[in-house]
Amino acid sequence: MFHEYDVLVVGAGGAGLYAALEAGTKGKTAVLSKVYTVRSHTGAAQGGISAALGNVEEDKPEWHAYDTIKGGDYLVDQAAAVTMAREAVQAVYDLENKGLPFSRTPEGRIAQRRFGGHTRSFGQAAVKRSCYAADRTGHMILQTLYQQCVKNEVAFFDEFQIVDIILDGLRCKGLVAVELSTGEIHTFKAKAILLASGGFGRIYKITSNAYASTGDGPAILARRGVPLEDMEFFQFHPTGIVGLGILISEAVRGEGGILRNSSGERFMERYAPTLLDLAPRDLASRAMMTEILQGRGIRGDARIDDYLYLDATHLGRETLRTRLPDISTFSKTYLDIDPAEKPMPVHPTAHYAMGGIPTDVQGRVRADGKDSFYQGLYAAGECACVSVHGANRLGTNSLLDLIVFGRRAGLHAADYVKQADMPRIAADESDPAREMIVALRDKPGNHEVRAWEIREKMQSLMTAKVGVFRTENQMSAAVEELQALRQQYREVGVMDRGAAFNTDLLEVLELQNTLDLALITAESARNRQESRGAHAREDYPDRDDKNWLRHSLAYLEKDGVRMDSMAVDTSRWPPKARQY
Ligand SMILES: Cc1cc2nc3c(=O)[nH]c(=O)nc-3n(C[C@H](O)[C@H](O)[C@H](O)COP(=O)(O)OP(=O)(O)OC[C@H]3O[C@@H](n4cnc5c(N)ncnc54)[C@H](O)[C@@H]3O)c2cc1C
Repeated sequence: MFHEYDVLVVGAGGAGLYAALEAGTKGKTAVLSKVYTVRSHTGAAQGGISAALGNVEEDKPEWHAYDTIKGGDYLVDQAAAVTMAREAVQAVYDLENKGLPFSRTPEGRIAQRRFGGHTRSFGQAAVKRSCYAADRTGHMILQTLYQQCVKNEVAFFDEFQIVDIILDGLRCKGLVAVELSTGEIHTFKAKAILLASGGFGRIYKITSNAYASTGDGPAILARRGVPLEDMEFFQFHPTGIVGLGILISEAVRGEGGILRNSSGERFMERYAPTLLDLAPRDLASRAMMTEILQGRGIRGDARIDDYLYLDATHLGRETLRTRLPDISTFSKTYLDIDPAEKPMPVHPTAHYAMGGIPTDVQGRVRADGKDSFYQGLYAAGECACVSVHGANRLGTNSLLDLIVFGRRAGLHAADYVKQADMPRIAADESDPAREMIVALRDKPGNHEVRAWEIREKMQSLMTAKVGVFRTENQMSAAVEELQALRQQYREVGVMDRGAAFNTDLLEVLELQNTLDLALITAESARNRQESRGAHAREDYPDRDDKNWLRHSLAYLEKDGVRMDSMAVDTSRWPPKARQY
């Protein structure tokens, strides 16, 4: 079936919905999502969205921008971070005006709490900058924006999984998607396509990310020759539930929770004397892994790794009930622990992709490290790299990124389609995707090579070899093993031959995406011979601004990954050593 739209948004998380809302006011707009809209991962975001409202303590966008740049270990494009911090204040009020039920101060203002790496006066002390709706902030954002989109008559194609994007040189023309309920293959023609397809934590074994976070958008574009930026920087969140990776929000520490080792010591005093448990995530995760590696963790067993404690027992039942209700429930459900009585066992969990599809602050997708852009192709949200998070994102800056840059990309796309022609798509331009699907469905099922086995091997090796600490040997081994798994993938067929809800087929397609992104992540990591932000190499322990203060660009080619680089904008604050 063929469809035609001015703007097509892929992804119904916070970035996609905000973009659709803006684009929908000017052009015929549709949103495609492989999961039902309000099941997008944004709905799992707990802790909050940052903005220097200064409702509870003095705060300034300037401090917010500085913290973001320092937190990102100076790999942040500084003008973009300044834009985000400035626009944050209005963005939060816009959400409030659209109906988002934020938690309130006793005076009725939007309540704010502390989060890691957010400080006042350029690093002097932690500041309350995160605006929140209990610990269901993402859920509220998603519901609010979805209702607004429905009101504004944005079209939704729920449970449509895109499998290819049609590019003609630098012009984007359309995409191909499978309708889950029927198995039918649809071709969409559009003047502009905006990717907001979310993250890819599923390349790792232990992750906080949803099953759907398989990086389809960046992987599809990478196979079409689009470079991916800073892919070596993957954030490990300090507090995942041990063994499961399910997130215990940083909001617990924002409210006063404390990390402790096996002897009950508040070990962050030794690693970050000023910000303590509210140090940025890269630092806190490394501190935790160091404690564990040096034998001060709590002993796990055959099923779970050694771990540490997140202690919220002193916060009191009332705070837990009103400000962290979901976290309390998670702890009881998954750990059988009441956080008011006992500390929670936690371990770092793969959480957030700082890297992704390279864009400018209007969401336009870059074609190289210079100033060449695709026409009619945009990206926003976690799949994009603007870059405002550099080598390490601060907590609550992602929801903000979705709103600020989702909005900007939507506005730019809406203007672009006013003067752009509707592209022509020849019948055979959607053939590669159709043929790939037919081949997978019709291939005689090879019972020797199972997709789930390849997936488990990939996830385990990424966690073991491209994790919190990295070395040349481990990463080289990872690259080699990933190449072998990509070879094996070619033999995979699907067992389910049905058309309706053939999740077997869709998971096989997702596996290809995660394999490609895992390879790009491992190669980008092996290439960067320094330690910066979330990329910590034991063989190159120092940051090396002389040689490596530049973004990585990775091109997926037939035989592997080609690396290139791009300048970083350091126009506001010259890079300094990070201290917390
Ligand atoms: C547990 C958890 C808690 C978090 N808490 C916070 C927080 O408190 N504050 C904060 O700032 N950040 C937080 N984050 C990070 C933040 O929530 C995410 O980075 C952000 O929500 C991503 O939003 P998005 O709009 O980019 O994509 P998502 O919300 O991930 O949505 C992706 C969309 O793309 C669609 N899609 C993907 N592939 C395809 C395809 N092939 N075809 C069609 N559709 C497709 C999906 O269906 C979905 O609609 C948290 C993340 C997690 C995992």
